[in-house]
Amino acid sequence: MSPVTRPRVPQTGRISRLSSRLPAGLRARAARWPGPLAPPVEQGTATPRIAIIGSGFGGLGLGARLRQAGIESFTIHEKAASVGGTWRDNTYPGAACDVPSHLYSLSFAPKLDWTRKFPEQPEILAYLEGVASTFDLGRHLRFGSEVTAASFNDDTGNWRLDFADGSTDEVDVVVSATGQLNRPFTPNLPGLDSFAGIRFHSARWDHDQDLTGSDIAVIGIGASAIQFVPAIAAKARSITLFQRSVNYVAPKPDKEFSPRVLALFRHVPMARRAYRASIWLRFDVRWMLFRQNSRSGRLVQKAFDKGIRPLVSAGLTEQAVVPDYPVGCKRLLISNDWYPTLLRPEVTVVTAPIDEIRTDGILAGGQNYPADTLIFGTGFQSTGFLAPMQVTGRRGVDLHQQWSDGAEAHLGMTVTGFPNLFLLYGPNTNLGHNSIVFMIERQIGYVLTCIRTLAEDRVAWLDVRPEAQAASNRKLVAELSRTVWAANCHSWYKTASGRITNNWSGPSARYWLRTAWPRLADFERSGAAATRPHSGHDRVAR
Ligand code: NAP
Repeated sequence: MSPVTRPRVPQTGRISRLSSRLPAGLRARAARWPGPLAPPVEQGTATPRIAIIGSGFGGLGLGARLRQAGIESFTIHEKAASVGGTWRDNTYPGAACDVPSHLYSLSFAPKLDWTRKFPEQPEILAYLEGVASTFDLGRHLRFGSEVTAASFNDDTGNWRLDFADGSTDEVDVVVSATGQLNRPFTPNLPGLDSFAGIRFHSARWDHDQDLTGSDIAVIGIGASAIQFVPAIAAKARSITLFQRSVNYVAPKPDKEFSPRVLALFRHVPMARRAYRASIWLRFDVRWMLFRQNSRSGRLVQKAFDKGIRPLVSAGLTEQAVVPDYPVGCKRLLISNDWYPTLLRPEVTVVTAPIDEIRTDGILAGGQNYPADTLIFGTGFQSTGFLAPMQVTGRRGVDLHQQWSDGAEAHLGMTVTGFPNLFLLYGPNTNLGHNSIVFMIERQIGYVLTCIRTLAEDRVAWLDVRPEAQAASNRKLVAELSRTVWAANCHSWYKTASGRITNNWSGPSARYWLRTAWPRLADFERSGAAATRPHSGHDRVAR
């Protein structure tokens, strides 16, 4: 496993000296900013007890930053047996990321030797394992620890956590880092249980099955399917794709890094930083494409229309390759082998709706398609943030009831009535054009500032004011209404009623600006914190 660059844990010495040279006003702001100029919390500060749920990019990233800030009073609860989140769960053949590796990693934990421009799943998972070990997070991680409920106690100002094994715990702060795409969705198709063959979801790939010579049916053709179908097509005797909507698929400008480039990144840190920044900037400029009727959107639409035409001449039907919605409304996909795969003799694309699943195949549009293996590429239950965890806030308010019309949070991170509950990759923080790791880092910085405030100002809890949440969401809804996602297409970015609950409303630079300096005036604070322990604490077994 290649190393993640050694971190500073905790940051002392040089940082404190630099910080002390700043003018007093700036120094006070820098101390609140969880960037490199922030000194670690003072020794002896009673830091809050923090429960982080999930050990993907969000949970591990926050753990690493807490340690850099000198805060050790946290536990990362992970329901599985290892770290990695979505990159641990999605092991299907061909799994890879469509964001370049140097941007799809934490800026404070760079990996100098990514092997290729677009990383594959094993390398990303190894990177995350590297982050956990480099930042020595092992002693904070608790595996097989599934939080089933979190409830705020109005009297004590603490959160009670309930775990699947029946134990409980009490903490001051809860940070959910469970992601948006962690619960696979399998449609309840008529006759599904009668299917006599093998079946599994792409996010729970059954590696024990040798697919050689199989008759495979794939239901759902999205970002995952366009990666695993090309990887298994050559093995199958037949592969039938049940495609409800068509994707826009652009070429993937992937390549391995040459030894010269790897040496440059290793020896000239500025070159790697500049490369990373240039990717971020180029990707953020692409945001224009996602505004309704934008000039760049029209140009890209034209380019796609032109690129698709030869596929129809090559023998693919229009229904199989021509989308009926504007470009960008669903996630834009990249692949070099998708269209060549569709042209393979063993591949059939079925666009008729599925009538029923039978013992030995699928009936669609009145025709039977034989299959002995059924793979679902039907995505995730994306709009039920935090589910199935039960979350109860002040005065017994149930979070999922409050969100019955769609999830909503202040800048995607805090919800009024749920003090000291912070969300990473929460509602309206997903992107269609840039790296989600960049967004998660902005959130980690914001949450860290709030946690420092709790520790250093001895505040018991912070609860975002309803008017602050309402104002940021009014702005968000107005901005989202001008995006291409509001067009008439079906996507995991929206609820069944069409409310866009998953995506951020602009370039990631805008999110950076709005979250760089948390406005503490946006929060109601409770009085002094009760005495807090400094470090780990034990769970109470029932
Ligand atoms: P997805 O893109 O949401 O695709 C799900 C597919 O299942 C869609 O084609 C959908 O059709 C279809 N479907 C859903 N219910 C169906 C039903 N009842 N009958 C027939 N078809 C049905 O899911 P995914 O491929 O798992 O990807 C989800 C997200 O994961 C991506 O958008 C991306 O953000 C992330 N991902 C990222 C990468 C990466 O490179 N970073 C790779 C893989 C996944 P409709 O379109 O008609 O709804």
